[in-house]
Amino acid sequence: MAKLFITCAVTGAETTRAQCPALPITPAEIAAEAKRAYDAGASILHLHVRRDDGTPTQDKAVFADAIARIGAACPMLIETTTGGAVGMSDDERLQPVELSPKLASLDCGSVNFGDDILPNSLPQMRAYARRMKAAGTKPTLECFDLGHVHNARMLISEGLLEPPYHFSFVLGVPGAVPADMRTLLAMIDALPSGAIWSGIGIGRGSAFMNPATALLVGNPRVGFEDNIYLRKGVKADSNAQLVERVVRFIRELGHEPATVDETKKILGLS
Ligand code: ZN
Repeated sequence: MAKLFITCAVTGAETTRAQCPALPITPAEIAAEAKRAYDAGASILHLHVRRDDGTPTQDKAVFADAIARIGAACPMLIETTTGGAVGMSDDERLQPVELSPKLASLDCGSVNFGDDILPNSLPQMRAYARRMKAAGTKPTLECFDLGHVHNARMLISEGLLEPPYHFSFVLGVPGAVPADMRTLLAMIDALPSGAIWSGIGIGRGSAFMNPATALLVGNPRVGFEDNIYLRKGVKADSNAQLVERVVRFIRELGHEPATVDETKKILGLS
């Protein structure tokens, strides 16, 4: 039996309330939703924040407000985004790292995002890794493509990352790799030894990635950032429903969702 940690990405940058009526937007709504996801079995909250009108922001003050409210609501580990939204500058994207979160995402390469491009050159990645190291923040190495795993290995060989390395495979972004078994296995095969991985499927890709990640003893991510449907045509009322479903997959396979303390141990966090 393994302990698999569940990350919940409750809001993201792109999902709108028109698409998803239950989407949390304000720091208070995000904290209430974090508590529901925690109660359902998630141990990491992947955090994006929004302005009150729903537009994405990397404003440090909004992150600080959300982090304080989440901390008061539940003991989840917080992973702030540095991906931000398409079109943001590096300084803008890196603002939440100034708050020294336990975890932050580090995008491991440029990627087409639908009609847009999210640029992440190697010099950018090195700068992000250095900023996270200085802040005492552990990077979650987000890989949208097979080459991104090799980019992360380059940073490891340059001494910019500390073990245990936590990779996060994002499959099914329009413009990057598809969410299927062949692709997932190729990405797992490319990992350096001793790496830990999480699995994310975007849109309908989550219907494959949630069970496949549990099956391959990875750590699943769910949430409205990635997918808003519980099943075809049925939207989830809450992120907690998506967490509950992946908890069922994990338990059916004989594993257990990791608690916050167990997740800290797995990731080598104090
Ligand atoms: Zn994100």
